[in-house]
Amino acid sequence: MSIVVVGSVAYDTVETGRGKVTDALGGSASFFAVAARFFTPVSIVAVVGSDFKPEDRQRLSDRGIDLRALEQQEGKTFRWHGRYHEDLNKRDTLSLDLNVFDGFMPNLLPDQRRCDYLFLANIAPTLQEQVLSQVMSPKLVAGDTMDHWIVDTHEDLLKLLPRIDILTVNDEEARLLSGEYNLVKAARVILAMGVRSVLIKRGEYGVIQFSKEGMFAVPAYPLEEVVDPTGAGDTFAGGMMGFLARDGRVTESSLRTAVVYGSVMASFVVERFSLERLFDLTWEEIDNRYRAFIDLIDSHHSRWITQ
Ligand code: AMP
Repeated sequence: MSIVVVGSVAYDTVETGRGKVTDALGGSASFFAVAARFFTPVSIVAVVGSDFKPEDRQRLSDRGIDLRALEQQEGKTFRWHGRYHEDLNKRDTLSLDLNVFDGFMPNLLPDQRRCDYLFLANIAPTLQEQVLSQVMSPKLVAGDTMDHWIVDTHEDLLKLLPRIDILTVNDEEARLLSGEYNLVKAARVILAMGVRSVLIKRGEYGVIQFSKEGMFAVPAYPLEEVVDPTGAGDTFAGGMMGFLARDGRVTESSLRTAVVYGSVMASFVVERFSLERLFDLTWEEIDNRYRAFIDLIDSHHSRWITQ
């Protein structure tokens, strides 16, 4: 089953201890879509400016991503400039220019309005709401946000949350949104805001999923080197939701497998800058790392208990 994603398609300038890239293809919807497309068809609802390079559009469509609702308007593409600390879990946003996203009115195509899976990637909550309200009866709605929207458009975000099944946030965003430092308390407050499940992404420490039924945690896949963490959260969400849409079931067990696939996809994107690693990734590599991941986390793995 296919997924519709609304979010940013951007040009990113990123500085990490491993170097710097300027105006590299990025944006929450781009990372999400490229990751999800390994599992299932996906279409992007977003806007880019007249400076958006035809070769970047080509790279996305070569991956089989549906770009019929990626509008191009007069003006500049969304831009984000971030600098990571030595501790790659921390970063500063040096600049953020919405550009053509300012005033963008998304208009979904008839088939997109009938989609079962919707991902509201990180973008203004009002835009997320405009897309959500055009979708007739989605089976699963997941959403992401960030500090900028939590602080600047708090009320809009609070209105949206009861309509979201799975909210993905990082630990700092969970703290900011809830006003609680402890993540278990933070998750409880966020669940009370109306989401069915909250997934807290903790960078190199992995993810914890909370729902009324309980909690579930997986570590991040241990890597020797991380080049650029940008997009890890969106790539995680793409792998997770891609798996759920392909599987067609939303059960506790499929959600757990989906969280592992999300973690596998995120472990690749951070190996290179921008979307570079995802663009040359193969299904065989995903499959191998999925198996390595299961070996890593399964303490009752048959390989060990049969000895
Ligand atoms: P992540 O590292 O998963 O938080 O995603 C980073 C991506 O989100 C970058 O490619 C940015 O272009 C994009 N981004 C950063 N800030 C925002 C924002 N306020 N709204 C939408 N997208 C953003």
